[in-house]
Amino acid sequence: MRISDKLLNKYAELIVRTGANVQPGQIVQLIIAVEQHEFASMVMEKCYEAGAKKVNVDWLSDVKRRLDFQYADQEVLSEVLPWEEAKMKQMTEDLPCRIYIESEDPDAMSGIDTQKLSSVTQSRSRVLKPYRDAIEGKHQWVIAAYPSEKWARKCFPDADDAVERLWEAILRTVRVDEDNDPVSDWKAHVDFIEKKASWLNEQGFTSLRYRSSNGTDFTVDLIPEARWEGAGVTNSMNGVFYIPNMPTEEIFSTPAAGRCEGTLVSVKPLSWNSQLIEDFSITFRDGRAVSCRAAKGQELLEQMLKMDEGASMLGEVALVPKESPVNKCGFLFYSTLFDENASCHCALGMGFKEVLPGGNDMTMRQARERGVNDSIIHVDFMVGADDLAIDGVRPDGSMIPVFRDGTWA
Ligand code: ZN
Repeated sequence: MRISDKLLNKYAELIVRTGANVQPGQIVQLIIAVEQHEFASMVMEKCYEAGAKKVNVDWLSDVKRRLDFQYADQEVLSEVLPWEEAKMKQMTEDLPCRIYIESEDPDAMSGIDTQKLSSVTQSRSRVLKPYRDAIEGKHQWVIAAYPSEKWARKCFPDADDAVERLWEAILRTVRVDEDNDPVSDWKAHVDFIEKKASWLNEQGFTSLRYRSSNGTDFTVDLIPEARWEGAGVTNSMNGVFYIPNMPTEEIFSTPAAGRCEGTLVSVKPLSWNSQLIEDFSITFRDGRAVSCRAAKGQELLEQMLKMDEGASMLGEVALVPKESPVNKCGFLFYSTLFDENASCHCALGMGFKEVLPGGNDMTMRQARERGVNDSIIHVDFMVGADDLAIDGVRPDGSMIPVFRDGTWA
């Protein structure tokens, strides 16, 4: 589809100015697929116009990644070379704005040995995680999307106009159209989310109880001082407000690691390591996933839960009403960026230390002592059934309805 230059420009501008909120003198790291090189140039130019000192581009390729896994040895792929590590180290000093443009084919790695994929991810993450932890909360970043042909085909297998339709949905969910002022629309959206988050913070819930007719029956404890947040974040190094996900509809917090019970039934397929897990549920005892079943991707799900100590515990709970514009699109995006903003979800693995007071200045070790889960993975899965009910338990034991029938009570 020939999407108008006017719309593309508006979108690129929104990503750079409202999303990453690039400031004069900052370095930008743009991560984007080679196929999207034209849009990459557009985003680069917007960054320079915003005063960026330098824009570096990391080019991604589904095809290259697949070929690597088909032909190269596991040991070779697992190794993090000194220059790669040096680059990460440099990042902890430069603290660049990171702009990630997602366009991945959801089936990019289908058929690739899942054990090999998991092991390589595990080994590489072990080396790279300390660098990622070091920049957490200290740099601006944003993830937005650009529809690739293959991704669009996955969403609309029978349509001739699959790419157009995916474009239309993406632009609607990020509030960009021919005539609007996306900056003021986003301001209103951020205000709405912040109001809901402050209501949750005033309640001071100590735990949440989930029930739905599909089998979800689950209780999770919250960390008393952890806050509910949504939409935007402030970079603790320079006070710049940025929006890490476009679209974003969720209000999230970090639950107490190792303190949940019961079963969560997923309502949408999950893409992990570029492969799909479908129709699954996970049962927790004493805060850890003790069993799981999946109609498709059982082995993959089991491997995911065993990635490390923290992979079987929760790091995020997030609330999204079923009226979310992403959900209203009425189809599955096969992309966490979108699907997590269509449904209440939880995430296995890494929690967010920044929801704790002073969390940005804590080491991961300090955050762990306060109850935040630590892991090399952070994988969202969707539990927002149409009849989902969530109750919040107050410190005095009283129960307050938070969600009824999949939306704010
Ligand atoms: Zn989330």
